[in-house]
Amino acid sequence: MRYVIIGNSVAGLSACEAIRANDKDSAITVISDEPFFAYSRPLLSDYITGHVKIEDDRFHYRRAAFYDNLNIERMLGKKVRQVDTKNKKIILDNEAVEYDRCLIATGGTPFVPPNLKNSDIEGVYSFTNLTYALELEQALKIAKKIVVVGAGLIGAKLAEKLSLNGFDVTIVELTNKVLGLALDVPASSIVTGQMIKAGVNVITGDSVSEIMGTKKCEGVVLASGKKIECDIVVMAIGVKPNVTIAKASGIAINRGLAVSETMQTSVKDIFAAGDVVELYDKVFQMNHPIPIIPWASVCGRIAGENMSGGYKIFEGGFPVNSISIGNASFISMGYAETPEDCQEYVNDKRIDEGIYKKIVVKEGAIKGAIFMGEIERAGMVSAMIKDNIDVSSFAERIVEDGFWWHSLERTLREKLTRRV
Ligand SMILES: Cc1cc2nc3c(=O)[nH]c(=O)nc-3n(C[C@H](O)[C@H](O)[C@H](O)COP(=O)(O)OP(=O)(O)OC[C@H]3O[C@@H](n4cnc5c(N)ncnc54)[C@H](O)[C@@H]3O)c2cc1C
Repeated sequence: MRYVIIGNSVAGLSACEAIRANDKDSAITVISDEPFFAYSRPLLSDYITGHVKIEDDRFHYRRAAFYDNLNIERMLGKKVRQVDTKNKKIILDNEAVEYDRCLIATGGTPFVPPNLKNSDIEGVYSFTNLTYALELEQALKIAKKIVVVGAGLIGAKLAEKLSLNGFDVTIVELTNKVLGLALDVPASSIVTGQMIKAGVNVITGDSVSEIMGTKKCEGVVLASGKKIECDIVVMAIGVKPNVTIAKASGIAINRGLAVSETMQTSVKDIFAAGDVVELYDKVFQMNHPIPIIPWASVCGRIAGENMSGGYKIFEGGFPVNSISIGNASFISMGYAETPEDCQEYVNDKRIDEGIYKKIVVKEGAIKGAIFMGEIERAGMVSAMIKDNIDVSSFAERIVEDGFWWHSLERTLREKLTRRV
């Protein structure tokens, strides 16, 4: 058996570990177009602002010893163009690699609005991989003013860190709140306060319609007509599944690469996992990409298990977001805003201190949660969402200060701990 993994990151490496646990002898080859060992994308903003170094252990998930110990051949700095599914060959620029089972774990690519004028001129950067970060690092040596487009997790964190490092930073967000998908209005206001405190100029409800300059970025024009001078624009609008290989190889694609619950694509012996796929979201009850590390890791492991003779299925995920901006540390899951057919339970008694808790409940089960400032109970709530636990008899207590398992009656606690 010969396994080939395309993508040397969270999903690809989780698959390698699962394969090797089942199959000690067969050849495993990992191919990546990036020349680096696997690294932490969440730490890219710490790298760019000097808080972590490339050689630090926490920056690289895996180094040479990992591949050597598991006897994994690595082909780094090589781009896969297509999978010849008929002849079972991975096609690279000047060579081909045969496979019996293959995993596509090519992650996401940055989204840039197609109609954004001058988005290809010098001074406009993406921020989704180390190569982009190294380019941005060079540009920051002479830049002073930066516009970050998009106040999602990547943009908000980067804007705060750059501002704290002394740059003049403006963040522009199309919706009416920062971290709009992850937070409701009160929680988002706490984060906005922290960003402003860090010196970021926060603009919401507006978008960048044009980048000014001919060869080099000189500023941006917003949809409202406002102009902001800057040396650098960082596009942080989000990522979309990188389905280029799947497209070239005739593998089915929906909103991401389409997979079964065993992570099998539409083509026999080709599996896929991570940010490249769409997953079943058990909160929103639909298939869509959920591009975060926990699911890339879980699905990579499931794919590896099924590629190597085991059987595991993916039972559904949901969005989970967790970062710190200034003093505001939060974890949010599922619904951020409360839909009309749900009830919300909120504890905002200490919102002035940056502490805010909310759960969203539908038909007795938690479908969303925000824990801001005090995040210790979030793991328990995540397990309740995952297992669809009926919380109707104690929902309002979950957001109370000091709530913990032991706050529940013994019989209820025992019933729940058997499941969580
Ligand atoms: C700045 C930033 C911050 C983030 N912060 C968080 C966070 O705080 N928490 C969290 O859970 N998630 C976070 N994420 C998301 C997280 O990093 C991803 O969910 C995770 O990396 C997905 O892993 P993956 O293996 O699916 O793909 P990726 O990590 O995207 O890796 C895919 C790999 O495949 C390679 N590849 C693509 N095409 C080809 C080809 N044709 N040939 C060869 N190789 C190819 C790519 O170059 C890349 O190395 C963040 C992402 C970014 C960019």
